[in-house]
Amino acid sequence: MKIIVFDLDDTLIYTECFYNKAIAQLIALISETTFPNNLSVEAILKRYKEIDKINFKQFQYSIGRIEKTFIKTIEVFCSNNEYVLKKAKKLVDSILKLVPTLIPGTIDVLNNLNKDENNRLFLFTAGNLKIQKEKVKLNNLNQYFDEIFYSISKTLKDWQRVKNILKERYKYRRKLEFISIGDNYARDIIHPFELGFRCFLVKGNADFSGYFEKEKHCDSYKLLNKLSDIFSYL
Ligand SMILES: [Mg+2]
Repeated sequence: MKIIVFDLDDTLIYTECFYNKAIAQLIALISETTFPNNLSVEAILKRYKEIDKINFKQFQYSIGRIEKTFIKTIEVFCSNNEYVLKKAKKLVDSILKLVPTLIPGTIDVLNNLNKDENNRLFLFTAGNLKIQKEKVKLNNLNQYFDEIFYSISKTLKDWQRVKNILKERYKYRRKLEFISIGDNYARDIIHPFELGFRCFLVKGNADFSGYFEKEKHCDSYKLLNKLSDIFSYL
């Protein structure tokens, strides 16, 4: 039996593009406000990322992190300009209200995998519980999975917990194969690989460099250019 554990954000649905759009608007706002200082987009983005990496270590996926990063970035470049701060808060509110949409082809892949009686599909997603549940609900994803695991992080311990639940559930099955499919090398590949999963990294747009613990090396995963490429391997 194949136990296939999917990641959600930027594996099944587009998430990062919303944040990128908001960050682009934030940068435009800073450039506008600080004109004619000629701050480059790269310089603002670099500072934004530095601030967000620090905040991520402390706040992880709590709702307030993005807002804190936005405000700190404004403070760095525009001092405490009330008008700009207000606009930045509005930007954050607007991205939190958006619901990421499905990456084309996702439903076909889930349907086809579910047709095989030998497969069991699970979703394991890390993030703010309320927001993650909303993403699943509004994209009608519940129906495709035997169970959805929500967590605030995806550490080795979290993966161990998920694997233990799955092992217990199928303890009377003779041949179990655990599979992880996700877009984040640090979270969806390294840890499950350590626990004996077969791992597939979906090529995505999100840039996670510097956000996670120093990455161990894992050379035994397959890179998928798109989700449906999984059928070449399963
Ligand atoms: Mg992801």
